[in-house]
Formats: sequence, structure tokens, C-alpha cells
Amino acid sequence: MIRVRQIITDVYKSDIETIKLLTSKKLGISSKDITSIKINKQSIDARRKPDINYIFEVDVTCNSEEFILRKNRSNDVLLTPNEKYDFKPTGKEKIENRIIVVGTGPAGLFAAYMLSKGGYKPLIIERGKMVDERVKDVETFWKEKVLNPNSNVQFGEGGAGTFSDGKLNTMVKDPRFIGKKVFEIFVENGADPKILYMNKPHIGTDKLRDIVKNIRNTIIKNGGEFRYSTCLTNINVSNNKIDSIEVNNNEVIKCDALVLATGHSARDTVEMLLSKNIDMKAKPFAIGVRIQHPQKLINKSQYGAEKHNILGAADYKLTYQTSSGRGVYTFCMCPGGFVVNSSSEEKRLAINGMSNNARDTENANSALLVTITPKDFGENPMDGINFQRVLEEKAYSLGKGLIPVQLYKDYKEGTISTSFKSVNPVFKGNNNFANINEVFPSYINESLKEAIDAFGKKIKGFDNEDSILAAVESRTSSPVRIERNEEGVSSIDGIYPCGEGAGYAGGITSAAMDGIKVFEYMATRYKS
Ligand SMILES: Cc1cc2nc3c(=O)[nH]c(=O)nc-3n(C[C@H](O)[C@H](O)[C@H](O)COP(=O)(O)OP(=O)(O)OC[C@H]3O[C@@H](n4cnc5c(N)ncnc54)[C@H](O)[C@@H]3O)c2cc1C
Repeated sequence: MIRVRQIITDVYKSDIETIKLLTSKKLGISSKDITSIKINKQSIDARRKPDINYIFEVDVTCNSEEFILRKNRSNDVLLTPNEKYDFKPTGKEKIENRIIVVGTGPAGLFAAYMLSKGGYKPLIIERGKMVDERVKDVETFWKEKVLNPNSNVQFGEGGAGTFSDGKLNTMVKDPRFIGKKVFEIFVENGADPKILYMNKPHIGTDKLRDIVKNIRNTIIKNGGEFRYSTCLTNINVSNNKIDSIEVNNNEVIKCDALVLATGHSARDTVEMLLSKNIDMKAKPFAIGVRIQHPQKLINKSQYGAEKHNILGAADYKLTYQTSSGRGVYTFCMCPGGFVVNSSSEEKRLAINGMSNNARDTENANSALLVTITPKDFGENPMDGINFQRVLEEKAYSLGKGLIPVQLYKDYKEGTISTSFKSVNPVFKGNNNFANINEVFPSYINESLKEAIDAFGKKIKGFDNEDSILAAVESRTSSPVRIERNEEGVSSIDGIYPCGEGAGYAGGITSAAMDGIKVFEYMATRYKS
């Protein structure tokens, strides 16, 4: 098979026949000589907007491949490399009890999926409810302000990513194609196969919910078992090795091997683990606000037109270093999305963003985050969590229990408007006008203001007076890391920290990849 790069088409004329024709021209053969063609990558080139192109990388089979390769070999024409994920379980250690996976976010779900395919029949426990019941609880919360601390945007089947944009891009290096395996599993379970080659793949909260159910059903078919509304509340350790776990404070389950994939919001679980002296460290994270603009303003900047029929809603990614040396960046940008109340603790308010697959609301939103380190909040593992909690309490009280919002002009001037202006708000969960400056220490406010003004030079209108800010974007990554050794094991034997909550991932794909890595650690040790 031959890989051909830099096949450039107009976005309006990018059907497979056109791609095949351009590929054959590049190879100096007739398109009839190409017997199969598969797109491997697709990216967008908007440097000459409004004329926008796709750039494809394709894999083709054709007659006389060796001859064609010899004639054309260059950076753009090469033998298709083997990019298949490959792992064989070699574990020999026998365990009496089946592996327990805690948490059904992407980390826990993918670890369980791989374990079940490898013949391990894991027991999966989840503090929240099954996805359909969870959706009802979240909608009740958004409408009626009744928070269920175990069934919300952070907790429940599918984890924090279930109510998300379902963006799948990650910056993690992937020499063993674990990320590719993650995408293949998503596709096997109902995702659009285009995610296998798109530059910035996304699924959407609406589609993700069904995919999560399909993954669950595959695990059950392979012999796995799920228990919902089942919270890990304690662990019993004997000779520095896990012996059993306690759930819901009232049931003990024997345990030899545990995947701990509880996400960045399981603060009670972190406290419990600390009380058991598991090795854990404070780590840097980021904190800030979410900003909303009209989607057409972003489209105009990225595509040169307010609407693009083929490309849909545009995204952006911006970074800035302030005069005092702080990093500020946009994160989890949701084109055509909603800003959502994603709180999980009483009287504390956190927000995030999500989109449907169609990304069709009138606003773009994105987190605007300032990086902070243990120097800002303290070196003890609970210090970062306590810092988040203080800000979330301020956000709750300023918004009188609802999402505190402020127009950008008011944020700069410390004033409070009583109505939105040219940007119509798009929220899930109600809001109240407030002075968001009061949520943060001054270095965060100053960094955000300096960065928003600088971003206005990159995207015209980003710093518009009417742009809507909401607070507080506090659950961007975990404030702690649970240490694990080269075999993936924590300082307590048999416990395998996994995913974002343990500090090994940041986002859906990297959490799922870490789930697969933890499966590999376990399958290298334990016999199925
Ligand atoms: C609204 C929103 C939008 C997002 N959008 C995106 C996006 O578009 N793209 C992206 O890459 N990332 C996004 N993220 C981040 C992404 O969801 C997380 O990075 C990812 O879910 C982390 O996966 P995880 O499996 O490590 O943890 P989580 O997904 O947090 O899963 C942890 C699970 O463990 C369960 N749990 C916790 N404690 C216990 C316990 N003691 N006992 C039993 N169960 C427990 C929880 O209920 C939860 O289901 C978004 C997050 C939110 C909140």
C-alpha cells in the first residue's frame, strides 16, 4: 500500500473520485490503476480565506506498487507504515477476585472494555446513575436548581465527558497508536468513521450518550458487570496491598486489583485515599472563566465568512503570555455550543461547555484559563482542591446560586449591567449578573483582562464589550497526581491510578488512552 500526502482539494469539491484523480496524477498513473483508496488524514487550509482547501493524506493500493514507489519516492509518497495498535497479554499472576474498575468515565470505561476483550470479566462500579437517568437528573438541575451530588454533569455513566462537546483531539504523543485504537473503539460502538481521519474530530454530547451505552453493552456481553449508584467509600489495606473495598459505606467487596479512574471531581475519594497514605502530590492546573461570542464572529475570523455551508461552526485555539509571565490559554472551545452549570457539590458552582453533534447554537464558547502552580495555592495535596472550592463558593454566592455572568466591559470596569446587549446568552442552567472580579485573586483577573485584549488582536471582536463571561471554570484538570510506578501501580500494591483524576490525562481521548495503558499494565501482570 502506498501513502500519498498533500492531496489538496477545494472544500466544495472533495468527493472521493476527485481525491482519487488528484492522487493518480501525483503518482503519474491512471486513476483506473488505483484499486482501493482510504483517507488517512484530512485537515483544513484556511490561509487564503475565503478560499478554503482540504489537505488529504491517503493510502492507495495499485498495480506495480514497487515500481511506482521507486519512481515517486519523496516526503509525500512512501510505503504505508504499519500503524496498528498491537498488544498481547502475558500476565501470569493468578488473582482470586475479579478486577474492579472504579468510575465509568473514558478512562474507566476503556480500561474495562479492553479488560473484557482480554477475558478478565471486570466488575465496574460507578457512584452515579446510568446515562438515561443521569440525563434526567442533570436536566432537572438545570431547570429547578436541585443538585444530586452523585448524579450530575461530573458524576454518572460516561463520566465528565458525557455532557461535553466530545472533542477528541489530544496533544499526547502516540508512538504505539493507542489513540488510534481509542478512535476505532468509538467507531465500533457507533461513532461516525470520519473521526478516524479528521484533524479535529468531535462527537457531540447527543451522540456520545448512545456510544457510552454501546460500550457498556459490549463489556457486559464479554462477561463484565456494572453496578451503578455504587460509590467507593473506603479501601482496606493489608501488608501494603489492597485487600477489599467498601462501597456506599455499607458493603465490603474483596479485591486484589483495582483500577482507580474516579476523575478530577471526586474530592471525597481523594480525601479518603490520603487518609490511607497513598502517595499523592499537588500539581499545577488552570482556572478562569468561560467566554461567549456570536458564532458568526468566529466564523468570519477563521473562514472569512459568517457562515460556511461545508465546514460548519469554526473553532479557535489561542495562547498568550502575560507581562508578568503567566500563561493564559483558551481550552475546551465549543463551537455552536452551550455554557453549562456543571457543579457537583452543594453551594459550590462550576461551569463548563458542551455542544451537540450539529454544533448549531448561535454562540461559540471557550474556557479562558490562567495556569496556576502549587506556589500559588500550596504544596499539600488538598491545597489545590481547597483553592477550587473557595472560588466555587464565591461563584455560587455571587450568582445567588445561579451562574454568575458579566459583560466584558463591566468586568474591566468592575460594574454590573442588568441585561445582555448584542450577544444573546446560550446557557444550560440559569444565570445572574454579578461582578466576577470578586471570584478571583487579582493576578487571575489581571491576567485574563490582558489576554482577552491581546486575543482581540488575533480574532477581531474577541474583546468586544458585550462578550459574555461566566464563572467559574475550575474543573479543567486534576489538582493532584496519584503516583504510580513503571508497572502502573500506586504506593499501595494492587491499586492502578488511571485517567484525569489521577493526573495522567487531560481530556476524553487522553483519559481513554490511559485506560488502555492501565489495561496493559494489568494484563502484563495478571492472568485472565
Ligand atoms: C461539561 C464538560 C465538557 C467537556 N468537554 C470535553 C471535550 O469536548 N473534549 C475533551 O477531551 N474533554 C472534555 N471534557 C473533559 C473530559 O470530560 C475529561 O477529561 C474526561 O472525562 C476525564 O475522564 P476520566 O475517565 O479520567 O474521568 P471522569 O470522566 O471524570 O470519570 C470519572 C467517573 O468516576 C465516577 N466516580 C468518581 N468517584 C467515584 C467513587 N468514589 N466511586 C465510584 N465512582 C466514582 C464518576 O461518577 C465518573 O463517572 C469536558 C468536561 C466537562 C465537565
